[in-house]
Amino acid sequence: MTESAAVVHSQGYACDIGPHVFPVVKFRLLRERLIEEGAVAAAGILEPGPAPRADLLLAHAAEYLDDLEQLRWTERTMFSELPLEAGIVRAYVLAAAGTTLAARAALERGAAINLGGGFHHAGPARAEGFCYINDLAVAIRVLQREGLVRRAAVVDLDVHQGNGTAHIFEGDPTVFTLSLHQENNYPVPKARSSLDVGLADRTGDEAYAARLEQALAQVWGFGPDLVLYQAGADPYRDDQLGGLALSFAGLAARDRAVLEGCAGRGIPVAATLGGGYARRLEDTLAIHAQTCRLVLARAGLGPAAAAGAGGRA
Ligand SMILES: [Zn+2]
Repeated sequence: MTESAAVVHSQGYACDIGPHVFPVVKFRLLRERLIEEGAVAAAGILEPGPAPRADLLLAHAAEYLDDLEQLRWTERTMFSELPLEAGIVRAYVLAAAGTTLAARAALERGAAINLGGGFHHAGPARAEGFCYINDLAVAIRVLQREGLVRRAAVVDLDVHQGNGTAHIFEGDPTVFTLSLHQENNYPVPKARSSLDVGLADRTGDEAYAARLEQALAQVWGFGPDLVLYQAGADPYRDDQLGGLALSFAGLAARDRAVLEGCAGRGIPVAATLGGGYARRLEDTLAIHAQTCRLVLARAGLGPAAAAGAGGRA
């Protein structure tokens, strides 16, 4: 018998960032929707505690973490495009623990999703683009430290390049970073991922799927023990901060390409939500809910995951 995929969430992901294009309320609304439609039981949702500083230090510089703890507005923190308040920093620290917990759960169950996270613009010593802590990088480094994975890949399909993740893992041969994004969009300039695919404005479902398939072939070739899937909802055609033209069906096909690709190869996969700024909040929620349902459908362990998960509680 196999356990179903894990869902991770904390009510602490909610924080008050004031009037903002980033709808942080989506974390709670998505949780409620999944419970309401019976996709997950409230009691079955895994809840993280805050990430220890030692974990954050695996991806971020000490002086940057000091700035965050002491709420200091410096050249390291000033590009967050967010207020710098204790409740907000706490939410990001919690999200990092959430993605770490999802990655751990993925090793045991095959797949997991954090109903939060995906803060891929945060660099080693720099807040950027609504991101204070790079949860993807923290999760990978924690699992590597514990010897649970050796090689990991980040498949970042948010409409914006995962520049913070690319910076953190630059020159690290154990981590493959793929970013498939809209070229003419934030961030400028781009960082260098292991593989960057910069898409033309208004790229639609078919062209996107073809480019993704080519890119994923390199991820599979790398042979990761774990994939972190940054499933941003912002490649959607009606996104306010994105300029691609994917439909709901195109986004579902995108999710399937990653999730089924991992399943077929026995690679554990943990997903994060990432961006999503559709004109209608309902659309962003629908896209994220679709990703969640596909993750939950990917139950059971493949052979590689079963080997990697052996002997742990
Ligand atoms: Zn984005």
